[in-house]
Order: sequence, then structure tokens, then C-alpha cells
Amino acid sequence: MLNFSCTYCRAPINLSEGDLAQIMQTLGGKRPKSVPVPCPACRKSNKMPLERIRRAWQMAGSPSAPVAPTTAPDDAPAA
Ligand SMILES: [Zn+2]
Repeated sequence: MLNFSCTYCRAPINLSEGDLAQIMQTLGGKRPKSVPVPCPACRKSNKMPLERIRRAWQMAGSPSAPVAPTTAPDDAPAA
């Protein structure tokens, strides 16, 4: 869990364990200095230092990203 405020509109942004896991998985082996985190309120990207995200993720027990996404855009039934 990582809580911070949006730089632009001050809205609180909460990254859950699943969000952190998702970010870490998306990065793969890459090690950028910061990671763009979109604000749910104003949609702008906040640059969050990767070190902060990684530490919060490790404190959460380094969870894996969820296998099945909660919202599937392509939810066509298999034939
Ligand atoms: Zn914002």
C-alpha cells in the first residue's frame, strides 16, 4: 500500500498491493528512475520514484500481479 497526493490537484492516490504488483510486472526488468502513476481525479501522470514503489511493494510481501484482470475489455465468450 502506498499513499500520496496528486501533484496537480492534491487528490489522494492509493496504490494497493495489486497496483504495486501490476506496476512491477509491467516494468519487467527495466529500472527507470520514476514511474508514471495516473491520478484518478485529474488523469495527469504523477512521477513516482521507483524506489518508493519498490519498497512499498517489498513491504507488502512482493506479491505477484493478479493473474486475471478484474476488468476484461475483451470479454468475448469462447466458442
Ligand atoms: Zn490529480
